[in-house]
Amino acid sequence: MKGKEGSVVQTDWRALLEAEKTLDSGVYTKHDLLIVRGKGARVWDAEGNEYIDCVGGYGVANLGHANPEVVEAVKRQAETLLSMPQTLPTEARARFYLALTSVLPPELNRVFPTNSGTEANEAALKFARAATGRKKFVAAMRGFSGRTMGSLSVTWEPKYREPFLPLVEPVAFIPYNDVEALRQAVDEETAAVILEPVQGEGGVRPATREFLEAAREVTREKGALLILDEIQTGMGRTGTRFAFERYGVVPDILTLAKALGGGVPLGAAVMRKEVAEKMPKGGHGTTFGGNPLAMAAGVAALEYLEKTRLWERAERLGRWFMEELRKIPSPKVREVRGLGLMVGLELKEKSLPYIQRLEKEHHVLTLAAGPNVIRFLPPLVIEEEDLAKVVEAVRAVL
Ligand SMILES: *Cc1c(COP(=O)(O)O)cnc(C)c1O
Repeated sequence: MKGKEGSVVQTDWRALLEAEKTLDSGVYTKHDLLIVRGKGARVWDAEGNEYIDCVGGYGVANLGHANPEVVEAVKRQAETLLSMPQTLPTEARARFYLALTSVLPPELNRVFPTNSGTEANEAALKFARAATGRKKFVAAMRGFSGRTMGSLSVTWEPKYREPFLPLVEPVAFIPYNDVEALRQAVDEETAAVILEPVQGEGGVRPATREFLEAAREVTREKGALLILDEIQTGMGRTGTRFAFERYGVVPDILTLAKALGGGVPLGAAVMRKEVAEKMPKGGHGTTFGGNPLAMAAGVAALEYLEKTRLWERAERLGRWFMEELRKIPSPKVREVRGLGLMVGLELKEKSLPYIQRLEKEHHVLTLAAGPNVIRFLPPLVIEEEDLAKVVEAVRAVL
């Protein structure tokens, strides 16, 4: 077990896996394999085993692992300019702003770039307070907005929140898809309502049209903002470019991350000019946000998505996939639901043993969404044959 000459790093893969497990902070329960490579919807471990990846980086890998156009853009940018703060304009950042706003409704025309999803939501919450002069947020039960203190304040799950109280207040949580509760919660004190068009972490639950329409209407009536968190649902995942397009509801602030950088860390809060204008100069900031590497990756990712229209593939394959899952004759299944290739299979029992068997017995990687749901977030480039194998694997373990 010797490292490379002059290197302090062990090269034996078992030692590396052990090192990651023991030196890690321990906040994640880790799988028992060392991933070394990915291509499209497949990944390989250190022993050369091949897996169909329906974890998809929690929704990062929409364009496929090692997407060649993203890789090429990253290489080119790395050789040209890696870092540059936002006070100094760069070609890459300008191109990213043009690319992103060109695929959004014209009113969403101001961008705050970030390095992650939670930072995009942190920005959204601060812009909302600055723009309205109000404090209160309305969020949904089972909603997930991230793990930092601000985003956590509008995240519902008690086990994520309670050890860290007090958080930002006041926040009112209402049942998702409950129009009446929403109307009652939004008042003259409300800065913003924040919602996911499909709840991801909360169990893969699509919003009803009435709910998102009501959210748009009541925020307008009360002078509050509507923030749509499309960190997981954006970039083609749900069968349209962004999920809000399907609902015909345009938010005041749209938050994006996960697949936005084609695999490179990148997020953004995109907002109306009137919202951005109310933030004082220096009222928010980020050193790495908008760095040239992430910006170049974002341009390549957006261009690839436009060229391939992968959302159409997500819609078609997602419909087929859900139909096939619904045909599995198992009394253990409560419901199959989702939008596009964001799919949840809810069981009448804990999903974790099935997730583990899918990995060990069938080399299919999936993730949970709450205790009883198996969540599938495959790269949108997944081959039909691979998706058929996933159906067979699920049938076998159930
Ligand atoms: C993943 C996710 C976040 C947080 O993004 P990070 O990059 O992990 O901070 C926020 N909202 C939703 C809907 C998400 O799926």
